[in-house]
Amino acid sequence: MNNNAFVSTPPSTATRDSASTATTAAAAILTIAAVAIHSQIRRYQLRNKNPIVNYQDYTSSEKAKLCHVGFATPNAIPSLPLDYIIIGSGMGGLSTASILAQEGKRVLVLEQHDVVGGNMHTFEDGGGYEFDTGLHYIGRAKNVKEMFRYITRDAVKWTDMDPAYDVVVVGKDKVSIRGEVDPDISNHPDHRRVIRDLKGMFPKEDHAAIDLHFKYVRLVMKLIPMYAVVRMLPSSIQMGLERCFPTYIRLFTHTTQQILDSVTDNLKLKGILSYIYGDYGEVPTRGAFAMHALLWDHFQSGAMYPVGGPSVIPQSIVPIIKDAGGAVLVRAPVSKLLFDDSHDTVIGVEVKGKKIYAPIVISSIGAPQTFQKLVPSSHRYLVERELEGIQHPDIVSHISLSSMFIGLKTSEDGKKCGGIDLASSLPSQNYWLFPSWDHSANWQEYDNNSDSNSNDNNNPPLPPPPAVFISFPSIKDPTYNTRHPNRQVAVVISPSKFTEVQKHQHERVKHRGSNYTALKESYKAALLKIFIQEFPHLEDAIDFVDLGTAVTNDYYLGTYRGAVYGLGHTPHRFRQTWLRPETPVKGLYLTGQDMMSAGIVGALIGGVRCAISLDKSRLVTVGRLLV
Ligand SMILES: Cc1cc2nc3c(=O)[nH]c(=O)nc-3n(C[C@H](O)[C@H](O)[C@H](O)COP(=O)(O)OP(=O)(O)OC[C@H]3O[C@@H](n4cnc5c(N)ncnc54)[C@H](O)[C@@H]3O)c2cc1C
Repeated sequence: MNNNAFVSTPPSTATRDSASTATTAAAAILTIAAVAIHSQIRRYQLRNKNPIVNYQDYTSSEKAKLCHVGFATPNAIPSLPLDYIIIGSGMGGLSTASILAQEGKRVLVLEQHDVVGGNMHTFEDGGGYEFDTGLHYIGRAKNVKEMFRYITRDAVKWTDMDPAYDVVVVGKDKVSIRGEVDPDISNHPDHRRVIRDLKGMFPKEDHAAIDLHFKYVRLVMKLIPMYAVVRMLPSSIQMGLERCFPTYIRLFTHTTQQILDSVTDNLKLKGILSYIYGDYGEVPTRGAFAMHALLWDHFQSGAMYPVGGPSVIPQSIVPIIKDAGGAVLVRAPVSKLLFDDSHDTVIGVEVKGKKIYAPIVISSIGAPQTFQKLVPSSHRYLVERELEGIQHPDIVSHISLSSMFIGLKTSEDGKKCGGIDLASSLPSQNYWLFPSWDHSANWQEYDNNSDSNSNDNNNPPLPPPPAVFISFPSIKDPTYNTRHPNRQVAVVISPSKFTEVQKHQHERVKHRGSNYTALKESYKAALLKIFIQEFPHLEDAIDFVDLGTAVTNDYYLGTYRGAVYGLGHTPHRFRQTWLRPETPVKGLYLTGQDMMSAGIVGALIGGVRCAISLDKSRLVTVGRLLV
């Protein structure tokens, strides 16, 4: 056991002292922030005394239609002057847009894909199967529901997943991860279900390690609101604060592996505690413990799924933007930012050769894409530090994802297939399958072997995936079978590498040639084998299979080198003082997952932070969503 991680002095006293110093620091900073914004509150109240938004009623088909309005549609761009342009319509872009629109601001959201929603979009294929893309579950916490209530104006309903929302599988070992659904107990985090379950599973000598792990999780969580606020301040102030409160910083400088090694030698316990790395794409030896802690906290009360599927979220936000005089347009790829040369200020964007102007442009497409692709070379000198920062090897994301979409057909009577009642045989749980409990070694093995593969035109068999995630969206959504009778679907996701498909990145989508098709077939075969091994009774029901790779993510989601989770969630990332919504370019702001963390809620919080950065007085109105 390595004791030099996380806290260099014995944890019991040092961490308590650290926590109280940090809490005092948090209180001091929040007080300063409150005083600093006091003068702005009056301004804000005056400005928003009479919000001018008249909300209308839309049917669900009207809402769905609004998510497909093309850039070329006549009169689609509002004729009155815009207050903001937002690039990208994922959770980051839409959450900022919703906050602004609810104050009566005229916002134009531009989306390169043919549907609104980013990772929340769903699509139909295979003759009536609907698939979700990047939202399979969300933490069932009260504050999460509150955030969605605010940004959708209470238009999204949620359904609980099985209390054992995740099942972790290594060989014959199966471990259920259960949320604490009893609200009385979830107020007492020491007694949470997962802690009780783990203690039931491991001998007494491991109990202290389990307690210590979750104690560290809680410590990080105490400081996360402070992190969210401090990271909005100018770099120089952030650095000064960090010098004053080194303990605060220490909580963000350790990898998950360092913390796990400091609490236990038990490989299986470490493997169970860190299975969740798949949700942010950094194996324990690289991933930040802060991110790991965020996720354990996020799912502490279990998991939920939106009724009607993830696309109901964008469908609920787009009307809010429209009713405030704005618009959300698809097939609108922003190719560059427009500058007022005399002032080095962003004044608009260019889409398909057309110039659109607004005093402020907000990008949700990730820091790398924004600075490398949208800032013209003539103005790169303004973002030199950022351009250097995003290329640091400790912040470049290493893992992409491949997603396989499976359509499962029930027989004519809508129920039986091969003698099985399909619907009742599907779990409302996510399955996480690993070759061994050592996640970093699993990845290393894959990484080493897939490199040789990517250079070979004959596509030799891919190494076994280091992790596989299986979920059944149709069973999580109670409306699925009304909308898609006699259909069930599964998604199977596994980490992959951009370099495996890099040579196909510039080929035309759906026409990438036989070599790419063969590569896709080998991914499919490997994942289908694992899927059928775990759910053998579904083999006969498989009716449709398709698979997207890292280059598919780049095409449909506008990602950078397949990095679906944005910048790498390493300790290095959490220390970057430049990584904040305000950029060195006047008139340019960032929102979305790079502004907080991966995950729908991470991107939403990124959206809230962006709105506050635009006008600090919003700390009073929407700041509560950060806590
Ligand atoms: C396979 C997968 C599964 C996931 N599962 C979950 C889950 O179960 N739960 C969870 O909480 N999170 C999950 N995530 C993570 C989550 O989806 C993301 O972290 C989150 O959606 C990111 O939101 P965003 O707004 O920052 O980015 P995005 O959703 O990626 O939005 C960015 C948008 O910008 C658009 N865009 C890009 N370039 C341009 C341009 N030049 N012009 C105009 N538009 C542009 C893109 O098309 C995209 O719509 C998953 C992600 C993936 C990929």
